[in-house]
Amino acid sequence: MFNNRTKIKELLQSDKTDYDVIVMGWVRSFRNNQFIAMNDGSTNNNLQVVAELGKFDETTLRKITTGASIKVAGSIISSLGKGQKVELKAKTIEILGESDADKFPLQPKKHSLEFLREIAHLRFRTNTFGSIFRIRHSLAFAVHKFFNDKGFVYLHTPIITASDAEGAGETFHVTSFDLENPPKNDDGSVNFKEDFFGKATNLTVSGQLEGELGAMGFGEVYTFGPTFRAENSNTTRHLAEFWMIEPEMAFSDLDDNANLAEEFIKYIIGYVLDNNKDDLEFLASRLLEEEKQKPLQERSEMGLLEKLQFVINNNFERLTYTEAIDILRESNHNKKKKFQYIIDKWGVDLQSEHERYLVEKHFKKPVILTNYPKEIKAFYMRSNDDGKTVAAMDILAPGIGEIVGGSQREERLDKLTERMKEMNIPVEELSWYLDTRRFGTVPHAGFGLGFERLVLFVTGMTNIRDVIPFPRTPKSAEF
Ligand code: ATP
Ligand code: MN
Repeated sequence: MFNNRTKIKELLQSDKTDYDVIVMGWVRSFRNNQFIAMNDGSTNNNLQVVAELGKFDETTLRKITTGASIKVAGSIISSLGKGQKVELKAKTIEILGESDADKFPLQPKKHSLEFLREIAHLRFRTNTFGSIFRIRHSLAFAVHKFFNDKGFVYLHTPIITASDAEGAGETFHVTSFDLENPPKNDDGSVNFKEDFFGKATNLTVSGQLEGELGAMGFGEVYTFGPTFRAENSNTTRHLAEFWMIEPEMAFSDLDDNANLAEEFIKYIIGYVLDNNKDDLEFLASRLLEEEKQKPLQERSEMGLLEKLQFVINNNFERLTYTEAIDILRESNHNKKKKFQYIIDKWGVDLQSEHERYLVEKHFKKPVILTNYPKEIKAFYMRSNDDGKTVAAMDILAPGIGEIVGGSQREERLDKLTERMKEMNIPVEELSWYLDTRRFGTVPHAGFGLGFERLVLFVTGMTNIRDVIPFPRTPKSAEF
């Protein structure tokens, strides 16, 4: 057996001393030919390994370089140095994998996030990305725990579909055709009848429609999987491949939906506050350093931990789209034309500058906006009695903008088909979806939460490329 190691996190958690262990990991730094800072990915805190002078041969010592992997056997003793309670006094040091110090791109110093993005295959070995991805893991675990504890069924919705749930058309095609020479119809168009699935297919943009089918049998389901959008928006909040959490609940209306979303967000944030303290503290101090570079008035009023505590301890602000438009229209920001898009009438879609104004300047807390104009929302959202709005809800978070999009679904067959026709959604093709309304339809609701936007919020990072291990964005699919 090779793996008889103890993880560094476990060693550092206890005050116990005078026992023997084997530890394996990577060298972060080596100073005075004596002190190795060793990390094994279980925590950001390095284990100090002491290689007593004169005890180890020159060849071994020369190979203890930043990035090298080592196996150390020795005993845990209480540390004389500051910064750690215990340290490892090495008896034997085995070099598992050498790392040429001149060529290894990560040096024991601060690297820019841009540089680290170019070497994303190595960035897991830095403190910042160690913390981010351990938190991402915890958030994912908390998502499953939250829904499991509530009795939701985790439904795996398909990645390849023949429908474009949003009707937005920004999909990646899936085909097995030879693109140089696809079979053609008489009119010159591509003949998808001959393609692998016998029709045109694409990567899913959302699991919602399938989620609704599940909810009509299980009552409450959720999906948590990758979604794909070929939207050419090169922003710090959009990815071409991102993960989405989509619960769908039968016997629920818009209020139930908003309540669940708020409870859910608070729960998973609370989970990482309880379980990822070291990593959050590391990112909080990192953020504080970053903020010092900014002019005073641009700095955030709260530190990262304060902000997260604030979110779990306060109610989200709830208001309608119409109320939001009034606030925006009357704002000095709008009057002084500080928005790029001036709000002049009811019915316009909110841009992220407006969303951020509401959460960051006006309410200073997360906001749940409801009842949007039907023209700017998807076909499946339930019509309100005013004939103008639908039972939609978006949750907006400080620093991020939209983090959740959801709605009560139109459960009335006649209203739904009518709306589909108005919006040119192919009723025949979605006949399977309409069966939920034909047979035992019920009021139901659900939402989609972009997982990476949540990770951004929790880690205080500002670019979505830094919170997914391998970002896919326009013109970039590295690693
Ligand atoms: P946005 O207006 O920000 O583009 P959207 O209205 O297109 O969002 P929805 O279709 O409602 O978003 O998707 C549900 C959630 O998925 C959003 O609230 C957001 O958190 C997330 N999301 C949407 N598009 C992306 C993307 N390209 N990259 C990462 N997350 C996304
Ligand atoms: Mn979008």
